[in-house]
Formats: sequence, C-alpha cells, structure tokens
Amino acid sequence: MEMDFDQLRAAMVAELQEQGIRDTAVLQAMNTVPREHFVPDEYLEYAYYNGPVPLPAKQTISQPFVVALMLAALKLKPHFNLLEIGTGSGYAAAVASLLVRQVHTIERQAKLVQYAKIRLNQLGYANIAVHLGDGTLGWPAAAPYDAIVVAAGGPTVPVSLRNQLAVNGRLIIPVGTQKKQKLHLVWRKKDGRFGHKVLTPVRFVPLIGREGWDEGD
Ligand code: SAH
Repeated sequence: MEMDFDQLRAAMVAELQEQGIRDTAVLQAMNTVPREHFVPDEYLEYAYYNGPVPLPAKQTISQPFVVALMLAALKLKPHFNLLEIGTGSGYAAAVASLLVRQVHTIERQAKLVQYAKIRLNQLGYANIAVHLGDGTLGWPAAAPYDAIVVAAGGPTVPVSLRNQLAVNGRLIIPVGTQKKQKLHLVWRKKDGRFGHKVLTPVRFVPLIGREGWDEGD
C-alpha cells in the first residue's frame, strides 16, 4: 500500500499540538521536513510514529514530541547559530535548520556522519555543517552558540558546552543515568553566570565522550 506521507506528517503535527507544543515555527518546520527520508527503509511505516525509531549502530532517531519540546525550549530566532550534539539521522538538524541561520551538528560515529551528510545534501539543506567528533567538547571553531541541543543523555552538563554559549544563549541536555534522564535547561546570563532549570523526564541513548560516559560504561 502507498503511504500518504504528507497526510501522516500533518497528523503527527496535530498530535504534537494536542500534546502541548505551542511554538508555531517549530510545528511548521516539523510539518515541512520529510521524516520518511530519515528513518531506515525497514522502518518506513514508522516514519511518523510519535516514538523513537531505531537507526544503525544501536542508535535511535528521537521521538518527534521530544524534538519539538527541546527546540521550543530553546526559543530559536532566525539569526541564531545553533549547535547540535548527536546528529544521528540528521532529522532534528534538518528541523532546526529551518528555524535558525546556521546549524553545526556533531556525531561521534563515522557511519552516521556519512549517511547524514549524503541525506542532508540530497534534500538540499544548505545551512547545516556535519562534523565528526566528540560533541561533549563542543565545536569551538564556530562558537559562540545562541542555542545548543544535546540529543544524548550525559551524567552532567559538559562544561565545554556551557562555555561555548553566547550571552543569553540556551543549552538543553538530558542529564541522569544511562537509562533515565531529565531535560536540563542552562542559560548564560549577562553577568557571565549560568541559570539552570530541570524540566521533564526523558530517555535518551548515552552521551559518550570526554565530558560524558566512558565508552565501556
Ligand atoms: N538527533 C538525532 C538522534 C540522535 S541519537 C536524530 O534526529 O536522528 C543520539 C546520537 O548521539 C547517536 O547517533 C550517538 O552516536 C550520538 N552521540 C553520542 N555521544 C556523542 C558525542 N559525545 N558526540 C557526538 N555524538 C554523540
């Protein structure tokens, strides 16, 4: 059976709205990005399922609701320079790219970097730079960032990431154990100090790196 992806996408966005996502720019971006191109072929029927979907290398493409929640919490503006840690499929980067001027996204798995680059290129996303590396250290070359979104769960908020925030910049990251985390929102104030607020419980794959979990944990 042919699937009507435009209809499924609109239904997903309606569901996000019912779940409490109010940011109309985020909703519109999610109504634009063709998620069916980001899920592996064998999971095509789950392209617009509002839950995580498996990716290669034991990773997952995050639940649409959580992507929307995190991007909305960052209060994105069109001139923003945004950093994402955990490119995965590239889906969240694609959504973010419609909301800001420039996206830098870092992925530690070379295979995923390769796939994401090809996919984002083919779909014509021109304001996304995909980098291979340990995202817990950020990407100093393009800092400071007005917004940083971490798509994997760490034991703490990496200091390197915090320090790459612009004044008034916001960082959102799942912090907790390897199985359960809570979203933490951190922002840099004008006086150089940081504000910090704990939001809702979430479940992400582990953030592995120098300022995250050890590979073997
Ligand atoms: N945002 C993605 C989903 C990411 S899943 C999407 O929309 O599809 C989390 C990703 O974070 C995984 O691909 C994992 O390999 C990656 N990751 C984990 N630790 C990392 C680190 N220190 N630096 C960069 N990427 C990391």
